[in-house]
Amino acid sequence: MACPICARETDPRYRPFCSKRCADIDLAKWLTGSYAIPSEEPPEDEADLPDPPRQ
Ligand SMILES: [Zn+2]
Repeated sequence: MACPICARETDPRYRPFCSKRCADIDLAKWLTGSYAIPSEEPPEDEADLPDPPRQ
């Protein structure tokens, strides 16, 4: 079985990963995916709107 992160041979100590590093990467992916889904939307663009015309 290959490490799901880097596809290298797994280490029994860190199954199913090859190293603690890859285990941490996978954990971070889970954590960030659960509460901080990256958005492809641009950030708020209200700041770029021109000032409303005065009357
Ligand atoms: Zn790996």
